[in-house]
Amino acid sequence: PVVRNAPPQLWFDGRFVDADAPCAPLTSHAMHYGSGVFEGIRAYATADGGSAVFRLPEHLARMRRGCELLGIAFDEARCTQATLAVLRRNDLRDAYIRPLAWCGAGSIGLDVAAVSQHLMVATFATAVHLAGAGVRLTTSPWRRNPATSLPPLKLCGAYVNSILAKHEARQRGFDEALFVDGQGRVVECTGANVFLVRDGAITAVEHADALPGITRDTVMALSGARARPVSLEELLDADEVFVCGTAAEVTAITELDGRVFGEGPVTRELAQSYRRVVRGQDPARAHWLTQV
Ligand code: PMP
Repeated sequence: PVVRNAPPQLWFDGRFVDADAPCAPLTSHAMHYGSGVFEGIRAYATADGGSAVFRLPEHLARMRRGCELLGIAFDEARCTQATLAVLRRNDLRDAYIRPLAWCGAGSIGLDVAAVSQHLMVATFATAVHLAGAGVRLTTSPWRRNPATSLPPLKLCGAYVNSILAKHEARQRGFDEALFVDGQGRVVECTGANVFLVRDGAITAVEHADALPGITRDTVMALSGARARPVSLEELLDADEVFVCGTAAEVTAITELDGRVFGEGPVTRELAQSYRRVVRGQDPARAHWLTQV
């Protein structure tokens, strides 16, 4: 039985442990080298009193691709069961879900074949990524990891790139950083994909170095947006700019380096449609939900 107000637990290699319990050795390979793969997934309370995970198979398929690159065995069915089990265990209907597969202890060398492999799934009651009414964005002096060096998957070590950009943007008083490439093309934000609206037409920014976001795919399906490369100049010229991601959902950009964007009716409507879909209020999209 679920004990209310009990400390949250996480699923770790097949058992439940207190979320703040020390489990993994400090000599874990992933802690030193970032040799892990994670996902960011959400569950939403649905109108029928239940809860559903949004596009769980797609998230786990992306996680498997990262694991394959690192030689980490990944069992999607097991991770699905762990995800549902930990949500039930913590009695959470609205949750941010963080599965993590990583290289453990055994060797301090770089060869991952010499170390153990682990999987955990943690849940968080709230997801804070880009909270608030609007986001003030700035172009980052940092370049995004090029896909030819670090493929745009959720590899732990790759996120130092996002952390650097976020830190630098925050130091200059902005909420979030926008990566632009050496040719002036927009890539993405530190944890969200970028869209623009111009004369009513919705465009998804396309770039080889950007994470293929599941929210981006969702928004494209809901809006009929077309994907294509976009220059920073064109973004600054847009009527509306918004970003999207599992944590960010659909969030309006109110400012980009001093350029202020208007009211954003298209963004507002899309944010609403997205909210309906994830909460199970759009029967045509029910196939995207995994009931808890
Ligand atoms: N880009 C980056 C770098 C991210 O970390 C995320 C969050 N996973 C996204 C985009 C958005 O992806 P998704 O919609 O699948 O959450």
